[in-house]
Amino acid sequence: MDHIAIVGGGQAGATTVETLRKKGFDGRITLWCAEPEIPYQRPPLSKAYLLGDMARERLHLRPRAFYDDQRVDLHLATPVTSIDPAARTLTHAGGVEAWDALVLSTGATPRRLPAAIGGDLGGVHTVRTLADIDAMEPDFAPDAHLLVVGGGYIGLEAAAVARKRGMRVTLLEAAERLLSRVSCAETAAWFAAKHRAEGVDIREGTQLDRLTGDGRVTGAVLADGTVLAVDSVVIGIGVTPNTALAQAAGLAVDNGIAVDARGRTSAAGVWAAGDCCSFPVGDIRLRLESVPHAIEQAQTVAGNILGDTTDYLAKPWFWSDQYDVKLQIAGLNTGFDRVVQRDGDGRSHWYYAGDRLLAVDAMNDPRAYMVGKRLVEAGRSPDPAQVADGSVPIKSLM
Ligand code: ADP
Repeated sequence: MDHIAIVGGGQAGATTVETLRKKGFDGRITLWCAEPEIPYQRPPLSKAYLLGDMARERLHLRPRAFYDDQRVDLHLATPVTSIDPAARTLTHAGGVEAWDALVLSTGATPRRLPAAIGGDLGGVHTVRTLADIDAMEPDFAPDAHLLVVGGGYIGLEAAAVARKRGMRVTLLEAAERLLSRVSCAETAAWFAAKHRAEGVDIREGTQLDRLTGDGRVTGAVLADGTVLAVDSVVIGIGVTPNTALAQAAGLAVDNGIAVDARGRTSAAGVWAAGDCCSFPVGDIRLRLESVPHAIEQAQTVAGNILGDTTDYLAKPWFWSDQYDVKLQIAGLNTGFDRVVQRDGDGRSHWYYAGDRLLAVDAMNDPRAYMVGKRLVEAGRSPDPAQVADGSVPIKSLM
């Protein structure tokens, strides 16, 4: 194998590059990035970076010299426009490149509101790239009124940062409660209470009819006719996996580029990792949006390209920072039928399917998170009555 090409320079793409070299691949590596920036971490963008607490260079996963040292051909601001799995080539504005193995780590794109309801007015922002945050930063001014549309983690984190910057914040969630895609009602209620205590006007079960303004957003009309004056808007209504290249090339797509347990797409020689792809877990397929997942899946894929035969085992974990709260999540709650609440160092919610522990949400309780993570990974399930009793030492659950 002479040339491994990686399309997409996010966390999964950067990890693939690193792992290929770490595992001794000595051939040519090219990394194709649509963005003009060398690979960077996304989680701090909407937190420390937006708050001005973290310099731009510190976002970079590796300094630029790393790519020279590792002999990686970085093609920044160079979107790949098509791939041809049969001919084993890719095309970009400057020409055609042959490859021996191709990794698609194309990530996901935030959903936007339709232009017909004001989605493309100035001052309406999404949260994904460095350019998104740079565009948003001047609008995060004290006393300005920010409207957040969507009560997932993206929307909630934006609301928290906006309050820290002294903004007035209204958050609209169309569903009956916050975090409906990812968390139980108990975790959602806990965060709703926290945000209200911090001064965010949280409106659940509330539909936006349209954004208004002449060039730049100045207002929002809700479905019930309420009119709000707003200075800027953050949209956090989920993402769509970037599957266009794969789809055009005839690869199987199923809520993301479909890969098998080893990370192979339906086309020989083409692999995928990270937010852009769905992978099998038992008899269902999952697509995860999480940094630890992108790292671990990319490591598995890089090894498999070089001849390993490793199945990717999702050991999902996730975190979110809001105000003084560190939320840590271990496991996948898919299929839970009850939630056990524990008041220990902080609050934790333990998801069970019958007697089986699936996942833990821990709010300011790192010990509950650590114990929960180990139990989930070991496939062990503590007695719910013991979990619920905050006076039972957490370590004894192991
Ligand atoms: P993200 O990763 O962007 O936070 P999620 O899918 O976890 O994505 O959360 C998005 C939230 O936005 C969901 O709770 C969903 O109900 C909500 N939502 C989706 N569309 C709208 C809309 N038009 N107005 C308000 N809320 C919306």
